[in-house]
Amino acid sequence: MDQQSPGAAGLLSRDFTSVTSWRVVEEWVNRSVGLTDRSRCFGKRAVELATRNLGVTITIDPALPIAGELRITRDGLVAYLSSHQNEARRNFTIAHELGHASLYIYDPKLDQANGAIERFCNVFAAELLMPWAYIGALNSNSRSFAHTLLLLAARSEASLSSASIRMAEYLRGGSGLADRHGKIMRQYGSIPDRLRVGEWLLRIARERRATFTSVRLGWGWTLEAAFLGRRHVFIVYPAPTANALLSAAVPDRSPVALRADRPIAANSGDVTRL
Ligand SMILES: [Zn+2]
Repeated sequence: MDQQSPGAAGLLSRDFTSVTSWRVVEEWVNRSVGLTDRSRCFGKRAVELATRNLGVTITIDPALPIAGELRITRDGLVAYLSSHQNEARRNFTIAHELGHASLYIYDPKLDQANGAIERFCNVFAAELLMPWAYIGALNSNSRSFAHTLLLLAARSEASLSSASIRMAEYLRGGSGLADRHGKIMRQYGSIPDRLRVGEWLLRIARERRATFTSVRLGWGWTLEAAFLGRRHVFIVYPAPTANALLSAAVPDRSPVALRADRPIAANSGDVTRL
């Protein structure tokens, strides 16, 4: 558990694949949203709350050549969004820009033009749209992790790919999408080759098992697949890790404090783009 605030630079130097780091991000996003319990605050609603709490204005710019951009103007923080993206993608883009805004409010001098910051903002967006606490709440009413994954995608209005990535991170395993014949199309996270997940998925599809299938792969790993009619979504996880994650306590000390009432630095109308 953190004894001191890690500061933005310390936070960004972390490896976000560890459970402890995820807890730091969870706290960071909680502060950005203004809630301590986000087990029922996710998706678009969470984005709206964070937008308001961080004092960010959203503007659609059809001419913007990239998905989104946060600009620091004399009027405050403005997130510009391209109009060429579907709703799931736009939610993620806004959430990503809110990550930049939260860092700016925390430390206006922080250099945000680098890959570590971009990765942090993606992690921030995933946690904002699909909170760790919300996944835990979904799990408690779910028959399997594959079922949780489908619920997560549907309710948080995230894409199936985003929800798959999130679940792989959550379980410290892997996930992906396969076609109706069981051939893997996309794969996320880390899946040891020895588990032969590709072969198992082909077999599951060939045998036309039930909508939800669970297979014990050995070495303590489990494969779950859900058949969606034209494709499969699958998730692979080590059981001991999954159990540890589900019982891990949330640190009670907040490592970061974010306030949106800090005056925005701007001079002579210059616009800083993040
Ligand atoms: Zn960015």
